Amino acid sequence: MSFLQDLAFRDSASDRRQMARVHSASTIDDRRSHISRARSYASTSATSVSISGDISSQLHGGYSHPLARSWQAERQLTKSMLIYPLFISDIDDEETLIPSLPDQHRRGINKIVAHLEPLVRKGLRSVILFGVPLAAGAKDALGTAADDPHGPVMASIRLIRQRFPQLFVVVDVCLCEYTSHGHCGILREDGSLNNESSVDRISDVALAYAQAGAHCVAPSDMNDGRIRAIKLKLIEAGIAHQVVLMSYAAKFSGCLYGPFRDAAGSVPSFGDRKCYQLPHGGRGLARRAIERDIGEGADIIMVKPASQYLDIISDAKEIGKNMPVAAYHVSGEFAMIHAAAKAGVFDLKTMAFETTEGILRAGATIIVSYFTPQFLDWLES
Ligand SMILES: [Zn+2]
Repeated sequence: MSFLQDLAFRDSASDRRQMARVHSASTIDDRRSHISRARSYASTSATSVSISGDISSQLHGGYSHPLARSWQAERQLTKSMLIYPLFISDIDDEETLIPSLPDQHRRGINKIVAHLEPLVRKGLRSVILFGVPLAAGAKDALGTAADDPHGPVMASIRLIRQRFPQLFVVVDVCLCEYTSHGHCGILREDGSLNNESSVDRISDVALAYAQAGAHCVAPSDMNDGRIRAIKLKLIEAGIAHQVVLMSYAAKFSGCLYGPFRDAAGSVPSFGDRKCYQLPHGGRGLARRAIERDIGEGADIIMVKPASQYLDIISDAKEIGKNMPVAAYHVSGEFAMIHAAAKAGVFDLKTMAFETTEGILRAGATIIVSYFTPQFLDWLES
């Protein structure tokens, strides 16, 4: 028994003796001394707990107030962290609800401004554009429509830059929406990706988007070496100093992209993407891909999907500690939360915050999210 425990034991024993005496007396003075003894007992006991080395067990005080709770987070969700995905089709007046992606629409260029106006007023800072060619004959083996100067993405970049100068425009760079086979590049005879010609084509497309006015180009194709190729073309064109290159560095294959493929019409016509997107157990491979893309000149690295890959986000933050880390909270994650909320498992808003703040906690400070319009309202209140 330590000296302090010894003292506490002795004090409580003498208190018991004093209590017995108090009960036998009836004067006002005695009652006063009872109260003062009770006070001194409480403080002696509290002090003995603290001094005996147990202070670290006392945590509740640090988060008893809502503001103090929010201070426990290393990073707090703000509107400027959010990028909102837009699906833009080549049918100018289209506005179609995507059944598997709750509350999300595919829109033609004529519907973009009216859609964005209220969101920009509420504080929307950034969008990411995906082109969706629907016209007959729009797709071919080379994905020619991707950088068609009159195509919906190129036209939307110019329109959004002109109408919403305060909005930061990110453009997804890939060929899968535009190729007849639905794969993320140009194929060899045997159906496998021809990495060299895919990189050549994809870097051309990225350059075209940047020249049309995109603030940021984000290649999601996962061909080897495309970050370096895009960076070099941006340098050669004299615009590397004003374009952010965001790499989908750790993009995993899996079943969470279903609703997106419905929205973008990018289901592969044969096979799958397992030979270029990462296998879901491949943590070391993801670390290598992140290291490689940083070395090739990426300004931001992205992890996709997000909530199933929090360890990878944390790795990305550790490897890329001097750069921003983005995470794509993908269509399947978003649809799952909606489905579970609808089934009464939890409250939608509570889970949207819990998930998104989990992604922040893991290390991301940029989140591509279909919840963005709702967060603009929720973060206001
Ligand atoms: Zn793709």
